[in-house]
Amino acid sequence: MSDQLNPISKAIRIQTSKTSQKEHSTPLYLTSSFTFENAETMRAAFADEVDENIYSRFSNPNVDEFINKMCALEGAEDGFATATGMSAIFSSFFALLKQGDHMICCSSVFGSTFTIVTKHFPRYGISCTLVPADDKDAWEAAVQPNTKMVYLETPTNPQIGIVDLEWAGKFTKKHNLILNVDNCFATPVIQRPIEFGADLVVHSATKWIDGQGRVLGGVIVGRADLIKDIYLYCRHTGPALSPFNAWVLSKSLETLDVRMERHSKNALKVAETLEQHPAVSWVKYPFLPSHPQYDIAKKQMKAGGGVLCFEIKGGSAAGAKFLNSLKMLSVTANLGDTRSIAAHPASTTHSKLTEEERQSVGITPGLIRISTGLEHVDDIIADINQALEQSTK
Ligand SMILES: *Cc1c(COP(=O)(O)O)cnc(C)c1O
Repeated sequence: MSDQLNPISKAIRIQTSKTSQKEHSTPLYLTSSFTFENAETMRAAFADEVDENIYSRFSNPNVDEFINKMCALEGAEDGFATATGMSAIFSSFFALLKQGDHMICCSSVFGSTFTIVTKHFPRYGISCTLVPADDKDAWEAAVQPNTKMVYLETPTNPQIGIVDLEWAGKFTKKHNLILNVDNCFATPVIQRPIEFGADLVVHSATKWIDGQGRVLGGVIVGRADLIKDIYLYCRHTGPALSPFNAWVLSKSLETLDVRMERHSKNALKVAETLEQHPAVSWVKYPFLPSHPQYDIAKKQMKAGGGVLCFEIKGGSAAGAKFLNSLKMLSVTANLGDTRSIAAHPASTTHSKLTEEERQSVGITPGLIRISTGLEHVDDIIADINQALEQSTK
């Protein structure tokens, strides 16, 4: 039965474990280790002859349920869940790359990912070429004999750039490279990179997957042979997801599809409204026809997702004023929540960089990022409008 189900139904129905009470909702297995009848059954578990839980750093029923749900949604063979999105990304690199290897990475990636590939890779003798998201010639030119992996985000954070996944899948197959995609902004109910040829998909589950700002988490899913190496690396290095967070995230996944539908609907309406606003120079959202990669976004995404960005007229000062004038939207360093969030990188997270440094990572002075929540869209738009009005005074 479950093999014929739509991935969304399948993920909702997956339940790895029940106690003798036959709970409908999966119980929480808060245990660091699991017991064995005798020395022989313990030996067999350690020898991988039987599929038994040993220790929650390796596996746990709640964590397994979260992984299985993610595999169903992404159409992946196997997976491993981690404590944060960054530990998922870090482990997917360090389990598979070694000294002398080369990686091609999209130049607009999450800040900590950027730090890993630019600051930590050199310490381990791994080289990395950064290429712009939409420059296909630059990707081709970056391939070297020792290139092993291509890493990208789409949509990118915070500029909402789009990478053509079908093209990326063909490009990596042609050169026999591992394609590793951060699918955090879209989530698998909007975009399934494996269908376009991705070998691995990584997530910060902290964002839309939880979607309620409660827990940190991460996950890597993809080809079984690669996940096996990642599992063995993680089993010893220890970035495991806590059973409690896995339990929360499994429940979150059961509402992911309906949440993303509403987040996307709200974001599109906010984007359309902002595009008409005189205090705004431009708006970027995947499903706005004015987006430079609108056709690609339409081809590979079912909806535009919950994040958009825009440039406020009046630069950094106007951006800071906009944040200070918000009455309902939260000012916080996160995204992917039921509560709408606004960020102005130039006056907050990226204020220590010089103007040129900000420009080089695509942070323009008046760039505002909005993560659209589940409040009534009229209230979100009203708050943004009144803050825009204040910012131009
Ligand atoms: C937040 C984020 C991460 C990092 O995830 P954490 O759970 O905070 O470690 C990675 N990639 C993207 C695109 C993100 O937005």
